[in-house]
Amino acid sequence: MHGVMFLSSFTAMATLLAPAGGQGKAEDRSSPPLMKSDQFPASCPPGDQKSACGLPSKAVIDMGKAKVQHTDAEWRQRLTPEQYAVARRQGTEPPFRNAYWDNHADGAYVCVGCHVPLFDSRQKFDSATGWPSFWQPLEEMFLGESRDTSYGQIRTEVHCTVCGSHLGHVFDDGPAPTGLRYCINSASLVFLPRKDYDAWVAKNSGLAK
Ligand SMILES: [Zn+2]
Repeated sequence: MHGVMFLSSFTAMATLLAPAGGQGKAEDRSSPPLMKSDQFPASCPPGDQKSACGLPSKAVIDMGKAKVQHTDAEWRQRLTPEQYAVARRQGTEPPFRNAYWDNHADGAYVCVGCHVPLFDSRQKFDSATGWPSFWQPLEEMFLGESRDTSYGQIRTEVHCTVCGSHLGHVFDDGPAPTGLRYCINSASLVFLPRKDYDAWVAKNSGLAK
């Protein structure tokens, strides 16, 4: 097992892993402290519990707590338009037409915004929703939750605690042993094959000492 030893230095790690550019410095005072999405229409009708993650989120995420901060312009530059719409504006990608819903490769999924590890393929399952689904996060400390009451539903929004990127929602209709279903947008994730992830862990564990 791995993935625990470097947690105490996750801020430094996130900085190390940040793509070339601003290097994750928290110097962007112009970033809005809160982000809220209300410009993205629902992409599927409410009512189907298994599709509840298909609705965009309107949860208010306190971006002031994010360790990795960039201006809105920088986020637009770093991400593709779809990644930006989902991760930074709480949008939702279409089911079955996204990168990882049917990905069965062995490895880990890291945050598109700051590259901290979020989910492991060993906890991925086929939810039949058309979105990558997991019954457990890789590291709970990297997942923040917000109450999302938009569209007349009570949902729990999940986001990255390091950079504040919106990931998806978590529901309590998942499989054993947790009974949880993390319904996550592919656009908020980057997949690392196992050997790449192991190398990444080894490298960052050493640096975090
Ligand atoms: Zn992140």
